[in-house]
Amino acid sequence: MPESDCLFCKIREGAIPAKVVYQDEHCLAFEDINPQAPTHVLFIPRKHIPTVNDLTEEDRALVGSLYLGAAKVARERGYADSGYRVVMNTQRDAGQTVFHIHLHLLAGRPLHWPPG
Ligand code: C5P
Repeated sequence: MPESDCLFCKIREGAIPAKVVYQDEHCLAFEDINPQAPTHVLFIPRKHIPTVNDLTEEDRALVGSLYLGAAKVARERGYADSGYRVVMNTQRDAGQTVFHIHLHLLAGRPLHWPPG
């Protein structure tokens, strides 16, 4: 899929509205439109990267920013001790539906393991 057709690139550009809750040099984060927990935030890189398979050595700082951002929002919302989940679905069998990598932050209820 070309970047111009990517839903999350459109959100990054402000062409599609989203409730942005965090931004830094490499990433931004917004509330998931169909939340699966009281907190469900998606952390996306500003750079268009379709799947985890497409990450390269030059993306190390970018990946770190996704995790540091998720930890910051989780801490701010009071989940540092009670717990939360960060997960990145990759390809069909994991249920990836948007092909611009995104780290889900889920919190605010007990989360089952293993996931379905
Ligand atoms: O991991 P996966 O690709 O399935 O996750 C995509 C996520 O993007 C879903 O949780 C979905 O609710 C969310 N989404 C969104 N805003 C959109 C389209 C999808 O938050 N406009």
